[in-house]
Amino acid sequence: MAILPDKNPHCLIVGAGIAGLATAISLAQRNIRVTIVEKRDNFLEEGAGIQLGPNATRCLSQLGVTTYLRENIIAPNSLILSNLKSGDIVNKLPLGRVIRDKFSSPYWLIKRKHLHLALLEQAKTLNLISLNMSCRLIDYQEHSNGYAVLCGNNQKQQDEFSVHAIIGADGVYSDFRAKTLPRKKPRFSGFIAWRGTIEKRDIPKAFQKRQVQLAFGNGCHFVGYPVQSGELYNCVLVTKNRLKNYQQEGMISSDQLLDKIGRIAPNFKSLISCCPKWTGWPLYAHLNLSLKDFEAFNAQTLIGDAAHPVLPFLAQGAALSLEDAVVLGASIDQQNEEDLPAKAFFTSAFRSYEQKRLARWKQVAKAAKNNHIPYHLYWPFSEVRDLILSLQPSYNLLKKYDWLYGFKAEEEA
Ligand SMILES: Cc1cc2nc3c(=O)[nH]c(=O)nc-3n(C[C@H](O)[C@H](O)[C@H](O)COP(=O)(O)OP(=O)(O)OC[C@H]3O[C@@H](n4cnc5c(N)ncnc54)[C@H](O)[C@@H]3O)c2cc1C
Repeated sequence: MAILPDKNPHCLIVGAGIAGLATAISLAQRNIRVTIVEKRDNFLEEGAGIQLGPNATRCLSQLGVTTYLRENIIAPNSLILSNLKSGDIVNKLPLGRVIRDKFSSPYWLIKRKHLHLALLEQAKTLNLISLNMSCRLIDYQEHSNGYAVLCGNNQKQQDEFSVHAIIGADGVYSDFRAKTLPRKKPRFSGFIAWRGTIEKRDIPKAFQKRQVQLAFGNGCHFVGYPVQSGELYNCVLVTKNRLKNYQQEGMISSDQLLDKIGRIAPNFKSLISCCPKWTGWPLYAHLNLSLKDFEAFNAQTLIGDAAHPVLPFLAQGAALSLEDAVVLGASIDQQNEEDLPAKAFFTSAFRSYEQKRLARWKQVAKAAKNNHIPYHLYWPFSEVRDLILSLQPSYNLLKKYDWLYGFKAEEEA
């Protein structure tokens, strides 16, 4: 356990998304007081589904969050790899018990909102966390003992207080990162993720199983899986967009989406047609932070998408955020210098956290980015991909993910 500075250490977290809440829990579990500011006024709807691989579920267990998730998770039996155009299944990877036994932690599917609510439930049990909704970090001044921060939502409701450290957890378009590293901006990847959900009564029978579908198309791919005890089916279709800079999120119908991707197999066409509205999310990534970027940070750092926006082609953005929370906790535990002032204590813990995380962020970002190549191949290369995939024993395919799912954030010391 860490030797904490004698005066109550106090940390500000900007953003109460998955990264912010998970890290608040991790710090409060180590007797650190945390104030979170969140610009939104509610957490009513939170996108659609999220896949949590064993590396993520292991972190949730470390953070004591799993008890609040149980009712809302689905443990899928398999991942079905298909060709979107022909509908042919090219391989089937076992998930369920196989993956749980292999990595000592399960693979879960969940609604984003339920993951978020579970993190909030656990945060509420920890007295050291205070969450301020409709509140932003307006300004801050660094001083020798920490930071004087000004937070609030308008001219009238502003609050000034002092903290020893600040963590930016305000997502891919982070204001905090823009203030601290103005030259580091994520770039548009050229991909749009179209997201939608299908109500249980409309889900075609063939897709009512506990399976994750990954279907490779021509210049696109589809991911689908059930969430919320099978009450909803979560769909994501990723397409390429030629625009260099795409910032508008738009909503389109299934017919408009089908027009964009050309001819596909009847089973996938009817599935996509069952989802009436699709919301477009331009995918931003490629931030490429280096340790040098953090050198002048003192007791400030970045976590979650604010630090490492990754393409969702490995389903790992939230997982990395959960890993950040656990590794930051482990870095706090390692601080054993006596009589260290709180600001110096956090400065040392944060540099150690960044050192431990950077290689992992880069490895996951690269693997996720590279996935678009096999996923989006055109004929005849798509035939070669399907043949290679179909010839491999599924266990061998799963083995390729050992480095990803076998990662133990709590052991990063
Ligand atoms: C199509 C798609 C599918 C995905 N699927 C998966 C998946 O299956 N598995 C997975 O692990 N990941 C997945 N991800 C990635 C995952 O959703 C993100 O990586 C994750 O949500 C990042 O969490 P975060 O807390 O860093 O950021 P966010 O969730 O964006 O949270 C940031 C928070 O900060 C708040 N905020 C912003 N600015 C301010 C400010 N100035 N002041 C105060 N508060 C502020 C926001 O309101 C928000 O609450 C997917 C992403 C996409 C786009």
